[in-house]
Amino acid sequence: MTQVLQVTAELFPLLKTGGLADVAGALPAALQAQGASLRLLLPGFPAIRHALRHETLVAPLGYPWGEGRAALLRGSLPGFDGIPAYVIEAPELYDRPGNPYHDEGHIPYADNHRRFALLGLAAARLAEGLDPDWRPDVVHAHDWHAGLACAQVAASRQRRRTQARSGFTIHNLAYQGTFGAGAFNELGLPPHFWAVEGVEFYGQVSFMKAGLQFADAITTVSPTYAHEIQGAEQGCGLDGLLRSRSAQLHGILNGVDGAVWNPATDGYLAKTYDADRPEGKAACKAALQKTHGLAQDPTAPLFAIVSRLTEQKGLPLVVDALQDLLDGGGQLIVLGAGDARLDAAFNHAAARHPLQVAHRTGMDERLAHRIFAGADIVLVPSRFEPCGLTQLYGLAYGALPLVHRVGGLADTVVDCTLEDMASRHATGFVFDGFHTDAYRRALRRAFALWQQPEAWAAVRDTGMRQRFGWNDAAKRYIEVYQGLQR
Ligand code: ADP
Repeated sequence: MTQVLQVTAELFPLLKTGGLADVAGALPAALQAQGASLRLLLPGFPAIRHALRHETLVAPLGYPWGEGRAALLRGSLPGFDGIPAYVIEAPELYDRPGNPYHDEGHIPYADNHRRFALLGLAAARLAEGLDPDWRPDVVHAHDWHAGLACAQVAASRQRRRTQARSGFTIHNLAYQGTFGAGAFNELGLPPHFWAVEGVEFYGQVSFMKAGLQFADAITTVSPTYAHEIQGAEQGCGLDGLLRSRSAQLHGILNGVDGAVWNPATDGYLAKTYDADRPEGKAACKAALQKTHGLAQDPTAPLFAIVSRLTEQKGLPLVVDALQDLLDGGGQLIVLGAGDARLDAAFNHAAARHPLQVAHRTGMDERLAHRIFAGADIVLVPSRFEPCGLTQLYGLAYGALPLVHRVGGLADTVVDCTLEDMASRHATGFVFDGFHTDAYRRALRRAFALWQQPEAWAAVRDTGMRQRFGWNDAAKRYIEVYQGLQR
């Protein structure tokens, strides 16, 4: 049985800033169901540290940058029965409220290189046998935060202290974890890793590059994104490296955790429903309109956004073409946190058109569920999108996704062309070219379909019957792990 250590900075439901948490939360059980032996490794952020139960001390962990040390704990986390978790206790590094990466002013913590270097170091120590009871065959690191795990495992292998292999998953190549060259001396890596064939990236240290350079296998979260990041436009300067590693690069589509995202069992909803009995969705829409002061009108198509407010998500297109949405008689509800200018734009729209636009700032898991259930269309016009989960949640909840044909959005939504509607494959609206006119045309097509309730219901039904389960993805990951051990 392959023993796998998942190394991640986020974990749903305990700590979440985006899709990484959903994936890290769902994948372990899916992998275990496929026969892997799983354990987790996380930094001791307050939400994780306080949730840890039945803890024991595994060993102290020295800091590579100087005096002081952390404690590596082992215990269990709620919701992860049978999957032990290692947590790094280092209050001076991790005991900070709120977002795990930056302060309240959105300024990244100045010691982030240390905070996440320790995560990589702990992974390699476990691969070397720090816990006498269990040692991973594969260290699976997620995103730049865990990128140094791959470099550290490679260093341990060079020193013949482990035979473990590493896998690295890119959830978003645009966030790279780069630091000044001076940070290198604090990471505990062998000096020769400071090289273009190592962790150096244009004179800086790059944790993302550490993952891409040293992982024995690389995965990313959709087949199309795996292709796109090997080109200059989306390669973020790492496309050459990714092309050179294309034989080890796999695109594995994320799944939907049916225990969390299922309108038939969702306890947050005004009324549950499913594809066979979709009537409850109308009650969810009415409740959403009522709670947020929107006109109580079942005939108005309700568009929704649940998103980090960043330029990546294509929200400027929505703002630019807002008048079209309003003129067509649509309503818009936005739940998001992030960029102050986008936040202000949606606030302004909500203040001017309170019966048609509602905006809630912040992260709100419960409201997110209610929005997918109440909405008719979910807008995901991202400029780029590694996988995207909200279009999948939209499909499951009968909110037709309107998306830019890019990354995982291209892999998961089928446009309402006449032929794909006739063959009952269509599930949403897909536009080509990242500009407002293309988005606007997709919006017009959504309004046109809305005028044909039967056709709309048929597309919605197809969408709700799509299954993006974690089982298929878990099987692919297991194949990747097995390939590493041959
Ligand atoms: P990304 O990881 O780039 O943010 P994804 O679509 O992969 O995008 O995942 C986003 C996840 O975060 C989804 O689970 C989505 O529902 C959730 N989410 C985003 N913004 C909010 C918010 N303001 N409140 C609640 N959940 C949110």
